[in-house]
Amino acid sequence: MPSAAERSLKVQDLLSSMSLEQKVGQMLQLDLVGFLDPGSLDLNTTRLAAVFRKYHIGSILNSPFTLGPCGGKNGWSAGEWKELLRRIHSTAQEVGIVPPLYGIDSVHGANYIYGATLFPQQINAAASFNRELVWAMGRIQGKDTKAGGIPWLFAPILGINTQPLWSRSFETFGECPYLAAEMGKAIIRGIQTDSDPDFPGLPPAAACMKHFIAYPAAVTGHDRSPIELNARTVKSLYAPPFWAAVREAGVKSAMEAYTEVSGVPMASSREYLVDLLREEMGFEGMLVTDYNEIANLHQFHFVTEDMRESVRLAMLDTSIDMSMNPPLAVGFADALLDLVKAGVVPEARVDTSVARVLALKEWLGLLDDPFHLLDAFPALEASVGSAEDKAAALALARESIVLLENPDGLLPLDPDRMAGKRILVTGRGCHSLGMQSGGWTLHWQGARRNEVFTEGSTYLEGLKARFPLAEIRYRPGVSVTGRDLPGEAEALREAEAADLVVVCVGENTYAEKPGDINDLALPAGQLAYVEALMSAGPPVVAVLVEGRARVLGPALDQAAAVLDVMLAGPSGGQALAEIVAGDVNPSGRLPFTYPSFTGVAPQQYYRKPSSLCTTGRAVFPFKYIDCPRQWDFGHGLSYTSFAYVNVSLSATEIDEDTPLQVSLTVVNTGQRAGKEAVLLFVTDKVRRVTPEYKLLKRFEKVELEAGASLPLTFTLRAKEDLSFIGVDNRRQLEGGLFYVGLGPRTDCRARPEECLAFTLSLSPSYD
Ligand code: BGC
Repeated sequence: MPSAAERSLKVQDLLSSMSLEQKVGQMLQLDLVGFLDPGSLDLNTTRLAAVFRKYHIGSILNSPFTLGPCGGKNGWSAGEWKELLRRIHSTAQEVGIVPPLYGIDSVHGANYIYGATLFPQQINAAASFNRELVWAMGRIQGKDTKAGGIPWLFAPILGINTQPLWSRSFETFGECPYLAAEMGKAIIRGIQTDSDPDFPGLPPAAACMKHFIAYPAAVTGHDRSPIELNARTVKSLYAPPFWAAVREAGVKSAMEAYTEVSGVPMASSREYLVDLLREEMGFEGMLVTDYNEIANLHQFHFVTEDMRESVRLAMLDTSIDMSMNPPLAVGFADALLDLVKAGVVPEARVDTSVARVLALKEWLGLLDDPFHLLDAFPALEASVGSAEDKAAALALARESIVLLENPDGLLPLDPDRMAGKRILVTGRGCHSLGMQSGGWTLHWQGARRNEVFTEGSTYLEGLKARFPLAEIRYRPGVSVTGRDLPGEAEALREAEAADLVVVCVGENTYAEKPGDINDLALPAGQLAYVEALMSAGPPVVAVLVEGRARVLGPALDQAAAVLDVMLAGPSGGQALAEIVAGDVNPSGRLPFTYPSFTGVAPQQYYRKPSSLCTTGRAVFPFKYIDCPRQWDFGHGLSYTSFAYVNVSLSATEIDEDTPLQVSLTVVNTGQRAGKEAVLLFVTDKVRRVTPEYKLLKRFEKVELEAGASLPLTFTLRAKEDLSFIGVDNRRQLEGGLFYVGLGPRTDCRARPEECLAFTLSLSPSYD
């Protein structure tokens, strides 16, 4: 492997040999949409060659509109993708341009490669609280994408989800900055690994942390709608996962966001794309825009008059290196060339960006041999969808399903004791691989028909397989939009005669704007149907098949059990059935706060202490209460029970340089083996900038046999774990009292006696 210095020499040599036109070309990312014949999806290489020749295109992306179950095809296999990449690289070689870098949205597995292992979505990955499983997801996602000849993945999303309405909630690692940071690091390390255990010498893939920054905080909850946040909040809550990705996981690329933050569109934001990303975080990787974002400056955000102005702004005020979908027709390249020639944009600005693009290509091995990935690893293609990979997806699905309620211990159900019993399985989500997999599954908007999947089982199929002696019937019952289906009355009659009802409520597939909703409540028809089932007599197990926390109201109050499967992917069917049967002890935990009313959302667990509700009585003084939540962040039941004993701190007073050890022993006090995510929260009692209610600072997932115990020690460091963004927008420490509390329900403000307290006393030399 060449050293970093040699690599950069190579990049510098190449850069200095390029004309301005060639350099500008490296900053263009072409959408392949216009180059594929819509009927056959055949690549028009003549057209492509002409565009390569004219624009020296640096990068290409999949067009979401051309992929997936369309044109008579369900998707492209790894072999077909490789063929496409081979034709692209051959065309580039004939024309004599630098090998283009292909990027694709592999966000839960290589979801555009037909036959590749589909993982649960990121929201489920977060619910597992299991770094190893998420690393494995990243590795396989990267490997399968490379099997299709593609070395660059537009993943992961690192925005914390603070807006439960947002249609991209499921693409996030949930609401918590620390959890998202930990999961982000794990998946990035998996994607970017250069030591795949099965394929020695396989080059790494590049991850792309997106979308920088604060994209989820849409004021209206609608995708791409404006964000009103000050820099302090952005840096406190939204930046940590990106910091971790840059500083600890060495992420190679970043994508900016569609949004405007407090009146400044991201594609023109010096504050975020230069000051924060480059200067404070020290990110040296390649920064690509989101789709069409430079043109959006005049077409969508109205901060400029035309393309030339938009390009000028993006080049002079940000550190953007590449324009996704430039677009050619309205002249990104022409505008930039013109601006450089007119001396408005310095050529050095272009050089800086092109050096970053070339450095990434070099790191991926593209500059040495663009055909390497296509030719050197013949077994890679055959590994796509292997039994081993599917086992990894299943392991993640199992640990991502959250048992929310099981008040009378109905679950688990012994399959033998269910022999001859009637189970009614109802609700569309019980028999839809598309619904259980979500958007970005073979198609941008997800896949609707079960037939297009090459693997997996629906929840119905999973239950049938695991409960072969029960009499299981399926009736859709109600449509997802809540309209009655013709068979609803019959389904309710069958419910009355059943011994058990399993109902799946939830959402159809969507991604981005098409998934906008105005109300978090599930459609009234679905809720009414569930209520009708509740009064039918037999116990009802409710399964939530959803990409965001849809508000359920009192409909599920009578449920015998509630499970949030979110978007567990094709292996969800088996995973759920194993949990219902007790083969797998549930260990998933909510990576978000589950609201109980649409009106009080958002209510993240780290809300400010003053964000309380009143009892509603207009009697002075008002009596404040904590706002109602259906389930807490971190909530998730198990079939066993755990206790934390011998909890202690290494000191009751520390200074800024003394690490603090938190020790405890986890004991499985129940009758079954199980896994437990131990969550450690810190509460800063008093602070000049109002403190969060509490913040997750550490977690560890442990596995224990019944009766077994395990000692754990967490180390907290003041500068990393107790600091905050001060009134001057800089990170700082403030002395005072802190509490450590364990478990999702810990509330050190209301019940300090259940927590451990310590004091941070800054030494006189502390600056
Ligand atoms: C999305 C990105 C995605 C890009 C390329 C955009 O609409 O916001 O997340 O990577 O399309 O498909």
